[in-house]
Amino acid sequence: MERTVDMSAPTRFRLVPDPASLMVAGLGSEAKGVTVGTGPAEELELTVSAGVSLLSARPGALPVLEPVDHLPTESRGYVVEPVAGALPARMLFLTAGGARRPRVNGHPAPELTLLAPGDEVQLEHGVVLHVTLYHENPVGPVESDRLGQECPLCRVAFEDGDLAYVCPTCGTAVHFLSRPEGDEEPLECVRLLSACPVCEGGVVLEAGYSHQKWS
Ligand SMILES: [Zn+2]
Ligand SMILES: [Zn+2]
Repeated sequence: MERTVDMSAPTRFRLVPDPASLMVAGLGSEAKGVTVGTGPAEELELTVSAGVSLLSARPGALPVLEPVDHLPTESRGYVVEPVAGALPARMLFLTAGGARRPRVNGHPAPELTLLAPGDEVQLEHGVVLHVTLYHENPVGPVESDRLGQECPLCRVAFEDGDLAYVCPTCGTAVHFLSRPEGDEEPLECVRLLSACPVCEGGVVLEAGYSHQKWS
């Protein structure tokens, strides 16, 4: 069957080198400015394309991630492929060409493993990559099917014109800014939260890459 995936198109996955592991691997000077978690794209963040890519790690060098048009049989490294349409998002990770098997979250991983956002994968030669996922801006006008539903914090129903924060993990809506009537104070319930009251996923107010778990 012919594949219709645009292999060069970026997916929501990005691999972010862990600064401490770069220091240990002797790559400290190149690691300046690396941030892990939510934030603007940094130079060292490796954006994962749809289809198959080869991730290679060499001693004394930063890991390299390149899309390939066929499964590399001889290249040493790790074959990376996002699972198309998987919810929650998952990524295949296959050790190839005699590379050392990775450690995932500190534990030895099998030759073929599934990575999730929030996982930390340690490549041969020591560099650790955080598996991060892009999420859309979670703040916007309250959707029509939520009108009349209660905010779980203040128990006030959402009204037309309110702005809601929608948890990217579980879909729970909380007031971001209600449209007050008269001289009422607007409700800004999300400001009281560091984590979602339902799933305990971290509150992230902007679109971006995050390494927190989404599952
Ligand atoms: Zn509220
Ligand atoms: Zn949630």
